Amino acid sequence: METLISSAVLRLWVLCACCAITAYCQSYTTYLEEAKGADLVASLLRWRRELHKMPELGFLETSTSEYIRTQLDQMGIPYEYPVGKTGIRAGPLGKTDEGVPTIALRADMDGLPITEEVDVPYKSMTPGRMHACGHDAHMAMLLGAARLLKSNEASLPGGVVLLFQPAEEGLGGARMMIEEGALRGVGAIHGLHVWPALPAGVIGTRPGVLLAASDRFSFVVRGVGGHGAMPHTTRDPVVAAAAVVMALQVLVARETSPMDSAVVTVSTFNTGPGATNVIPESVKLSGTVRALANDTFHRLRIRVGQVATGIAAGYGCVVDNVTWSEVPYPPTRNDERLSALVREVATNLLESPPESGDTDKSLTRGSAKVQEVGTAMTAEDFSFYGDVVPQTAFTVLGIGDSAKGTNVGLHNPRFQMNDEQLPLGAALHAALATAWLEQQAQRQQEQESGGTAATTADVHEETDDDLNDASQPDADSDGVAMSVATAADSGEDPRIESLRKYAREKGVKRMPPWLRKVLARESEFAHAVAQADFEDGLRERLEQARLRREEQQRKHAAAAADAAGTADAPAVEGSPSSHDEL
Ligand SMILES: [Zn+2]
Ligand SMILES: [Zn+2]
Repeated sequence: METLISSAVLRLWVLCACCAITAYCQSYTTYLEEAKGADLVASLLRWRRELHKMPELGFLETSTSEYIRTQLDQMGIPYEYPVGKTGIRAGPLGKTDEGVPTIALRADMDGLPITEEVDVPYKSMTPGRMHACGHDAHMAMLLGAARLLKSNEASLPGGVVLLFQPAEEGLGGARMMIEEGALRGVGAIHGLHVWPALPAGVIGTRPGVLLAASDRFSFVVRGVGGHGAMPHTTRDPVVAAAAVVMALQVLVARETSPMDSAVVTVSTFNTGPGATNVIPESVKLSGTVRALANDTFHRLRIRVGQVATGIAAGYGCVVDNVTWSEVPYPPTRNDERLSALVREVATNLLESPPESGDTDKSLTRGSAKVQEVGTAMTAEDFSFYGDVVPQTAFTVLGIGDSAKGTNVGLHNPRFQMNDEQLPLGAALHAALATAWLEQQAQRQQEQESGGTAATTADVHEETDDDLNDASQPDADSDGVAMSVATAADSGEDPRIESLRKYAREKGVKRMPPWLRKVLARESEFAHAVAQADFEDGLRERLEQARLRREEQQRKHAAAAADAAGTADAPAVEGSPSSHDEL
């Protein structure tokens, strides 16, 4: 039953509200037809296969990055490089004015240290390296989206930024992209991953948590070695480490609620070169800890060291060199609003709208091709974007087809991309970006027609409540702001028009806080003010998110230490991470 529930793909019934407005739907539904045009299909195939030949590991994607930049040059799309060592921030496509609503589309660029086992004409040219996670397809689909958006650029009511991100596989390239400004001005971000477990052509999303938080550990069980014929003269670390491996299973089986989801996997057990008649001095273990809930994740990270130390001590051995990665991945969560928009857009792309009055078809539209997927215990550094961008959605694109062999799992040396799905991925990226921008424009229009009072309320709705401090009163400037604001309300003060002019010339980013606050009351400037405030706080928010996680960790460490009756949690040292993530 548990398997059935956890792996179930729940069918979703979608009611398409937007189809009441024909023009709104049609603005992006043609993207799929365009993407299926012979020209773009040929380009998608070429990009995907050329990139497949040249896989590079995280932060070493120099040739890959150069290849992408060449394609962007050919399309006439400007970009910034490097952002995050080898990363690229392309665009914005569409409107480039300061403060317009902007959405980012993201593709990861790194390959894996895997030797490809499938013989195809475009097989990896680099021994021991393979695009076994579909990141070649992600880049090709984003280039495809770039072309679609470029050809419809004039009608975009905002900006679209394209992020080609390095080092998703364990090194947290997303975090470096954020730190180097990739998200400035961005109010929403969409990521797409090919998914062999989902039938080809199906689009999967899920509001809330989609993927797990993840971290990896390693430690050494140290004993006293000796002759294999005389174990009584040793402290055998092999037997102790074997017991530790078994005991760690209890952390999930007996300490985690059956309603919760968590994993503790010991994946390496290394006794060194050794000999059959020698008991070694030490055994090195390593593995991964994952959980959907942050609390569970932090508790497990503490308990791994405690249990290992306690069990090893029972065998007369010690545990040392406990290390965790420097950048544990948080859970990947989908914003409910953006996830709902993904469902709506995907449905409109894949199924034509019902005849007017056909309520039966309205109710079942999208049920076959757009599905709510279950959570997975894999992880993604896309989760870092969720720390700082209010609306994030990570969507999966089904490529599974047993006849073609494209249902082989990610990170498998026999993994294969289903190239027929490339146009759908490209169209989905482009369509979602367009739909989101139209949604923002429509909302702004409604506010303008409904008066300016609602503007700031909407701005606050667009930002993450507990992260955004833009709405907090500024004690020093409140008096000034209020008096100017009152004058603005009267509509007669000539100073106000001069301030507006000043803001138009200089851009709201350069305005002092009190003036920004005044301008936020006016629909013309409200979005720009929200974006400027958001950008100003970006680095700070990333830091706050990190501090929050550390605080949670400390809290759990203290609680766990209390519960175990020990004075301190085991020593933890940082080490470079190498997750085997999505
Ligand atoms: Zn991967
Ligand atoms: Zn991946």
